[in-house]
Amino acid sequence: MTSAPKSVEIAIIGAGVVGLATALRLAGEGREVLVIDPNEPGSGASFGNAGTIAEYACMPVGNPGVLRALPKLLLDPDSPFSLRWAALFQLAPWLVRFVRQSLPAATRANALALAGLLAEALPAWGEMVQEAGLQDLMRRNGCLYVYRRDSDFAASEGGRALRAELGVHQQVLTADEVAALEPRLAAFEAKGLYFPDSINVSDPRTVMARLAAAAAAKGAQFMRASVTGLAAGAGVRLSGPGLVIAAQKVVIAAGARSRPLTAQAGDRIPLDTERGYHLEFPTTAPLLNRPVCPVDLGFYMTPMDGRLRVAGTVELGGLNAPPNPRRLALLGRGVRQFFPDIGKPSSQWLGFRPSLPDSRPVIGPSTESPDVIYAFGHGHLGLTLAPVTARWVASLIAGRSLPSAADFSAARFG
Ligand SMILES: Cc1cc2nc3c(=O)[nH]c(=O)nc-3n(C[C@H](O)[C@H](O)[C@H](O)COP(=O)(O)OP(=O)(O)OC[C@H]3O[C@@H](n4cnc5c(N)ncnc54)[C@H](O)[C@@H]3O)c2cc1C
Repeated sequence: MTSAPKSVEIAIIGAGVVGLATALRLAGEGREVLVIDPNEPGSGASFGNAGTIAEYACMPVGNPGVLRALPKLLLDPDSPFSLRWAALFQLAPWLVRFVRQSLPAATRANALALAGLLAEALPAWGEMVQEAGLQDLMRRNGCLYVYRRDSDFAASEGGRALRAELGVHQQVLTADEVAALEPRLAAFEAKGLYFPDSINVSDPRTVMARLAAAAAAKGAQFMRASVTGLAAGAGVRLSGPGLVIAAQKVVIAAGARSRPLTAQAGDRIPLDTERGYHLEFPTTAPLLNRPVCPVDLGFYMTPMDGRLRVAGTVELGGLNAPPNPRRLALLGRGVRQFFPDIGKPSSQWLGFRPSLPDSRPVIGPSTESPDVIYAFGHGHLGLTLAPVTARWVASLIAGRSLPSAADFSAARFG
């Protein structure tokens, strides 16, 4: 005997930052919302990221610079962009698309699309900070890239020029100016690039807990369950172990695990994951005043409450392989180049960025049903773009048209 489905206006699959921001937005607009996730809200990629609201980061991951270096990067297990060779066969289709998206014309189109979305990031965050009471968790000190070799700085010329053209605020700094901003950072010779408008959060986990609480206070319900079945017809029927839901609309915000659900909604979307890691080092006083990214090492060092979080690098290797100790050791060696006496890490983490080959998220309806709305694939920018995504999803559900819907639609992969 099957039990009668629970009916709800909007079901959101996934309680990461994207699902939580969307739940908050929709519940705030008076919608009936149910968020379904088998895990604690905010415990996926949204838990372990570098905490930067990177409104400046319009350069896609795939770009001509990465393409030129790709063979070297992929062959070196200690590079910031590495490959688990055991996963090569499974990853090949994604990699082929990634290579195509790294050509100059595609890079430019992807950067332009991302810049449009990123232009809304800070205002949308400002609104969400007010709604969820996050004021005490926000740090407004900008963000700093450091280039330790002149050749690395020279190689960033294309990115700097494109960001300048797109109106991103950035300032080139001398090594002395970097030292003035970050006096505890070990001295180096080359240059810095400062993004003064960027903000960051002091503790992603607390941000996620507050978002969930704020959404619940506005009436959103939460259910611990995994969605394995999705059937769109008149409305959408969701199923899973112990779960049968009939929803008028469904939002798929299951991060890197969204693909099996989109397949059932009728779309073949080349979503994969860029695995990323973090180490945390306890600190009695902050070592840095803002997130600092040594560009050659591919990670951020972000001061968080009572600790320095060293987060980043990319490992292409799928969702199932265990954490790779070599990648964690790489972060440890990297941070010690700046803070030789930092001591031992107190925690380590592996997370799964939801990544599309063109670095653009998918935000919009499935190609087969207007009742299934996608909100996933934010790659390196999910924290940054969650509240913008929530705005867009709310607009779609309200029947309002979006300015650049085609740039982020599922149909672009057809
Ligand atoms: C090392 C690292 C550093 C990063 N730094 C930054 C940064 O500084 N700034 C930034 O903007 N972004 C950063 N990111 C990226 C950012 O963390 C992600 O893009 C973002 O967290 C994705 O959010 P999400 O809600 O889509 O996914 P997630 O947070 O992964 O949430 C997805 C949720 O869906 C649930 N789920 C999955 N399958 C199902 C199912 N079948 N049924 C129900 N629920 C399901 C999961 O349990 C999970 O809770 C970083 C990522 C990494 C790995």
